[in-house]
Amino acid sequence: MTVTEQLSADHLMSQIVDGPGGFSGVDGDAQWAAEVRRLVELRGATLLAHNYQLPAIQDVADHVGDSLALSRIAAEAPEDTIVFCGVHFMAETAKILSPAKTVLIPDQRAGCSLADSITADELRAWKAEYPDAVVVSYVNTTAAVKAETDICCTSSNAVDVVASIPADRDVLFCPDQFLGAHVRRVTGRKNLHIWAGECHVHAGINGDELADQARTHPDAELFVHPECGCATSALYLAGEGSFPQDRVKILSTGGMLDAARETGARQVLVATEVGMLHQLRRAAPDVDFRAVNERASCKYMKMITPAALLRCLVEGADEVDVDVDVAAAARLSVQRMIEIGQPGGGGE
Ligand code: SF4
Repeated sequence: MTVTEQLSADHLMSQIVDGPGGFSGVDGDAQWAAEVRRLVELRGATLLAHNYQLPAIQDVADHVGDSLALSRIAAEAPEDTIVFCGVHFMAETAKILSPAKTVLIPDQRAGCSLADSITADELRAWKAEYPDAVVVSYVNTTAAVKAETDICCTSSNAVDVVASIPADRDVLFCPDQFLGAHVRRVTGRKNLHIWAGECHVHAGINGDELADQARTHPDAELFVHPECGCATSALYLAGEGSFPQDRVKILSTGGMLDAARETGARQVLVATEVGMLHQLRRAAPDVDFRAVNERASCKYMKMITPAALLRCLVEGADEVDVDVDVAAAARLSVQRMIEIGQPGGGGE
């Protein structure tokens, strides 16, 4: 490292301010990006960014994708250190699948309201009411909840996972009530019990709003990317008929980017967290992509700021650890899901 580089790094670090909303004070500019890449090399790390991250974070990462795709990349990467720019349960999932690796998250306060809507104690109490039930949990759960789970699921394979369970067994589905309602409608299963959890980001994507958007944008398609809880209400409402079925596309990340490149529509409404728009606009610059709900921004995802990432790489913090027994039990529930079907719907 040259003296100039050292001065530049010290200057950036001295600007970082820690506040209740996370670390701030550093712009995601070219100087910062160069410093991030230098530090990533120095640590021998792989830098992963979820689709809902800030554009500057996505642009500086080695890989961008949804949480399970990134966890699988983390497990296969030759590097021993994974820097996971996403929320805490995602970094935990990477650690569960790569127990021997060091997993860092730029700010461990980046939680998830959906994952927080059920604790392991609450799930144990629920299981005690239905001792013979099979527990299916959405991947947006903590490692401790996954450890109490029989089979994990994503929004793409939730129907297949539930359909794989014998019809006479009760199923406890948590924590996302919209995904649960969608699965119950599709499978027609009466013995599916649904936990009343939800993601705060979807608030505002309601049936009236979707129907309004369909009327005011008569030629637009609707893309629903249901990987995170922010769009599961749209998934449910689209199935209810709030938006004409022939214009609705429910897609995984890769499928959405392919559809963006191939669409004949000039305008596409996107029902998901607004961070996804960055990848779509890059994939198809001529298409007018609009958020169904501009306010659908996850404050936890946005805690992974340029300042937080820089601090993480300099200090090697925050490290994500999962108890060995919890990780082993949680890994089983994820592996059972992988055995049943493609977690990303085959299109990641
Ligand atoms: S968008 Fe919702 S489900 Fe996704 S991380 Fe944020 S709070 Fe959790």
